[in-house]
Order: sequence, then structure tokens, then C-alpha cells
Amino acid sequence: MGYDKPIPEPNADTSPFWDGCRRHQLRFQRCSDCGHIRFPASFLCPGCHSFDSQWIESIGRGKIYSFAIYHVAFDQAFKDSLPYVTAIVELAEGPRLLTNIVGCRPSDVRCDMPVEVVWDDTAAKFALPKFRPLP
Ligand SMILES: [Zn+2]
Repeated sequence: MGYDKPIPEPNADTSPFWDGCRRHQLRFQRCSDCGHIRFPASFLCPGCHSFDSQWIESIGRGKIYSFAIYHVAFDQAFKDSLPYVTAIVELAEGPRLLTNIVGCRPSDVRCDMPVEVVWDDTAAKFALPKFRPLP
């Protein structure tokens, strides 16, 4: 059975992020001049406007900054996943990532809940970073 949900569309800036995901590495850009760690990837530091950056690997842990429980499938590809949780996870390194919370009941999800990355390999050619509660 094919994967019919939307998949990422990498560009020159975001390809290294998605390449890392395929290796199950959550990676962010760190500004080589001011140290700011940013997401999504871009060619320019939003803090100091430097063009120089390097890729670092996240420890893959953070906490839920905000979330919503979806009970309606606005895209029919998601109707078999209902209810599901879309969340903004704040990583230990600082960036906030839009993702899904898995591995628990949606009603158990709370803000500030500690979470860790898990990899969803169901999308052809992509591994999607999702998060589950830490024990
Ligand atoms: Zn900077």
C-alpha cells in the first residue's frame, strides 16, 4: 500500500536536514559566528545575518511547547489516523519543530511533557521525525 499523506519537498537549504532524517539524525544549523541554532534551515542567520553555518546533531529530546488534537481529517489521507496530535516540540538545543506526538493516547498529551524523537519510515524516501513521551 502506498503512502498517500503529503511528503516534504526539500530545497537547497533543507536537503541536509532531510538527508539527516533518512539516517535517523535530527540535525540543525548552528551559526558559525554567533552560535544561534536555527530551524527551519536557511542560508542566513536570523540573529546576526551571517552566511556561515554548520550542521549539528540534536540529542533528539525536548518538551512539548504547544499541541492540538485533530478529530477531523482536513486532508482525507489522514482520516485513518484520527485522532492524532500535532505539536510544536522545543528541542533541548532551542529550535521548535512542528511534528506529531505518538506512543501515547492523545488525551495524555500535556504542554511541557518531556519527549524524544522516534522515526517514521513509512513515507517512501523520507524518514519523518515524530516524538513520544519519555518514560
Ligand atoms: Zn548568527
